[in-house]
Amino acid sequence: RNIIIAIDGYSSCGKSTVAKALANKLHYVYVDSGAMYRTVTLYFLRNNINLEDDSKISKALEDIHIDFHKEHGITKVLLNEEDVSEEIRQMPVSENVSAVSAIKAVRKAMVKQQQKMGARKNVVMDGRDIGTAVFPDAQVKIFMTADPKVRAERRYLELKNKGENITLEEVFENIAHRDYQDTTRKESPLIRAEDAIILDNTNMTEEEQLAFVSDKVSV
Ligand code: C5P
Repeated sequence: RNIIIAIDGYSSCGKSTVAKALANKLHYVYVDSGAMYRTVTLYFLRNNINLEDDSKISKALEDIHIDFHKEHGITKVLLNEEDVSEEIRQMPVSENVSAVSAIKAVRKAMVKQQQKMGARKNVVMDGRDIGTAVFPDAQVKIFMTADPKVRAERRYLELKNKGENITLEEVFENIAHRDYQDTTRKESPLIRAEDAIILDNTNMTEEEQLAFVSDKVSV
């Protein structure tokens, strides 16, 4: 059986930073499940898919092919062969992704694809429902959290550095809004799996976080 390390938690907690570092260290494949929901959202926005229209949604899901392509150590997200890595991080997607990811058919399609990835390779996968719904039998489960203000500041600096025109308040609102939607939705809400270890990284460096998670992986 492949080894699965599930890293779940709130928005902008630094899940992907820890997950990537851990995957590098262990030579596992890193899978960013949030990027998949973001890619679906981008496709829905571009094609004006009405979130109430079930048949349009299932047709769209058939037309969406998501791939991760690693080149020179950097992983690109491909939507039907197009590199959308940058666009899926921008605000229009961030503002709509929680509504899209609350749709049952969307989750079903993504979970199926994620489970296939875990069946092929040892993976470190980050998201919201990896330890609860995608891989309830994952050997290691981490649940990440951090002070919401600290999270907003970190994400704000990241977006600013990329040249996005945005305020700290907008970033804070977006994070709070996504956390609310993610924890209150009907389909696999964001919740800590009973056997997940909590990692609150409010006052931790990236090195300390990697040491913390590495310590939990005795493989
Ligand atoms: O991880 P990231 O913040 O990029 O995820 C974007 C959004 O995708 C989350 O706010 C959540 O609504 C959704 N998501 C999800 N389940 C996952 C990963 C992400 O619902 N496993």
